[in-house]
Amino acid sequence: MNKKKGPWFLLFWFSLFMVIFMFMNSARNKSAVSDWDYSYFKQMVKTGNVSNVVVEPDSITGEYKDEKGQVQKFKTLPMDDPNLVRDMEAANIQTFKGAAKSWWMTLLVSWGPVLLLIIFWIWMMRGMMGGGKQAMNFGKSKAKKSDGQLKVTFQDVAGCAEPKEELGEIISFLKDPQKFKQLGGKIPKGVLLCGSPGTGKTLLAKAVAGEAGVPFFSASGSEFVEMFVGVGASRVRDLFDQGRKNAPCLLFIDEIDAVGRHRFAGIGGGHDEREQTLNQMLVEMDGFDTHEGVILIAATNRPDVLDPALLRPGRFDRQIVVPNPTLKDRVEILQVHAKNIKMDESVNLETIAKRTPGFVGADLANVVNEAALLAARYGQTSANMKNFEDAIDRVLAGPARKSLVCSPDELKKIAYHESGHTIVAKILPHSDPVHKVSIIPRGSALGLTWQLPAEDKYLHTKQEAIARLAILFGGRAAEEVVFNEISTGASNDISQATKLATSMVTTFGMSEKIGPIALDKGSSEEIFLGRDIAKGAHVSEKMSELIDTEIKRFLDEALAQAMDIVRKHKDTLDIMVSYLLKKETLDAQEIDLIMEGKPLLGV
Ligand code: ADP
Ligand code: ZN
Repeated sequence: MNKKKGPWFLLFWFSLFMVIFMFMNSARNKSAVSDWDYSYFKQMVKTGNVSNVVVEPDSITGEYKDEKGQVQKFKTLPMDDPNLVRDMEAANIQTFKGAAKSWWMTLLVSWGPVLLLIIFWIWMMRGMMGGGKQAMNFGKSKAKKSDGQLKVTFQDVAGCAEPKEELGEIISFLKDPQKFKQLGGKIPKGVLLCGSPGTGKTLLAKAVAGEAGVPFFSASGSEFVEMFVGVGASRVRDLFDQGRKNAPCLLFIDEIDAVGRHRFAGIGGGHDEREQTLNQMLVEMDGFDTHEGVILIAATNRPDVLDPALLRPGRFDRQIVVPNPTLKDRVEILQVHAKNIKMDESVNLETIAKRTPGFVGADLANVVNEAALLAARYGQTSANMKNFEDAIDRVLAGPARKSLVCSPDELKKIAYHESGHTIVAKILPHSDPVHKVSIIPRGSALGLTWQLPAEDKYLHTKQEAIARLAILFGGRAAEEVVFNEISTGASNDISQATKLATSMVTTFGMSEKIGPIALDKGSSEEIFLGRDIAKGAHVSEKMSELIDTEIKRFLDEALAQAMDIVRKHKDTLDIMVSYLLKKETLDAQEIDLIMEGKPLLGV
């Protein structure tokens, strides 16, 4: 609200100034004007000592000469005195009939404050009602239009192969919407880019506009959430209006989660303003036809909190994940940014990429920039490897990045841990296929092994449950076999395994010794929440002991099985770890090759 000051804003200050000025003026006049009784006035008229008398219905004012002969002002209240005119004429006093003081001045003085309030009120209302087209830009979107043609192309975006491929279709549409229309192609209205901050979502959107050669309008979701109800909605409307006027073009909304949060989320009811803004966005999205040539791209790092309405067909119906960069991507990103600085032969970008797992594009751009700054500080003509290493430390020291510091030793442990999960999962017949294994830190987890069920399954057999337990212990087993010690990295696995084993015994009746009794009294969730099942009314002490031993037996057996598998396949484990350390992420195909003892190409 303090950013743009339109003509209305000026008018507001001008009228405020005017009113204050007039008040001061009238106050000053008052002090210099002598207040006379009517009789005194008549007396003075008779002496002929007054001049310039102005007679108005409610006052008589004029000038007189005081004892020192200086001209002063006076005023008095008029009386019903028919003789006054005659007396003044007799004394040869010049008189004027009222109206010298214009009526509107009086009006403005007495009604000024009220008027001011009304102006201010209108000013606010305009913003709220979204009269975006009026001369006021309170309710206008702050959407920034790129100046001229965007120079950003896909070449400036390193890595991101999949997002680029998916966005290709949109580029060809924006290049020639008419042709697309004739072909009857169906294009998504909105594309949602999901990914961690700094992974290049904005950059990708700009590159789409740049490649297609269309204008790029960007706004941030947080700009739509304003203090005043309705302002955000009006800004949304304005953004879409701009889009329509400039079609074909690309509208980009960063941080859409700021507006698009689930409407009923949050304690204490919704946020009215945000809700209105979101509704307006939905209305606008439904209201425009893609063939107009306007494409909306939004970015978020929290797709999970978005209102489902935003993701429905005809809205953001295409979601593209912008992943954290892999080792190869990181090398490419560094190359893109290193083009802009001078560096000597000592710099090895691959080594830098290896040292920075978990860094996203923005971090890497930062590393290159810091290295150049350091070089400049020491008066070098080009940046060297030492500068880059110091730059990494500086970026690492930045906020919230500390957790990502992984020494080579730690990385090796993580690699063994994750490979352990993977190998156990691959060896056991009743496990879900492994989709991916990675040692790139993600959130609080240091590494990840993705398992996707082959089909949607809700029923699990006992064998599957047992396999799952062994897989969960695979990480710990690998650490124990290789390093003969256990790290804290396995704690989440253990708690998951314990929950599963507990349900197996108390809910699913998978223990032969106990048999099919539901012992958990209600939902198994409660056990997960830490309720003590032994307190259930019909569980005897003996039974609760038996439950404990059975749970422990399942867990012990699973760990032993996992250890067994890891020991038998230690060679494969070592090979997988060496590949993981090189590539950081292995996909299903690569895992299969490793399991078959075949080498990976291109590593
Ligand atoms: P996001 O919108 O995902 O938060 P940005 O697109 O704003 O991230 O990225 C910030 C900066 O990081 C970019 O301006 C660019 O310099 C750099 N960057 C991020 N990803 C890449 C990439 N894939 N290739 C090259 N530079 C990148
Ligand atoms: Zn694990």
